Amino acid sequence: MMLVDFGLFFFVLLGSKILLGMIAVYLLIPRDAACTLCDAELLPLQHPRGTIRLLRLLRLQRRWCMECRRESLTRRMASAVTGQRAALPVAEPRIR
Ligand SMILES: [Zn+2]
Repeated sequence: MMLVDFGLFFFVLLGSKILLGMIAVYLLIPRDAACTLCDAELLPLQHPRGTIRLLRLLRLQRRWCMECRRESLTRRMASAVTGQRAALPVAEPRIR
């Protein structure tokens, strides 16, 4: 029982502030695919090795602006390419 009280005390003292800070930083990361400086469309970048799982876990995505040549971090959004691929009819060559 003493250990639970001690853990709760440290969560209120330090853990809650860290948790609230992390939530605030996450919410400050832009969610749309438009550049914050020039409003151009951002292109998704391939993640370097090692950070793929971490960024996927945090639901973040690195993106590149073609206009101002700047890399930025955005919250992961559903890519339009996968939805478009399912909607388009596939023309398959006939083999005889
Ligand atoms: Zn830009």
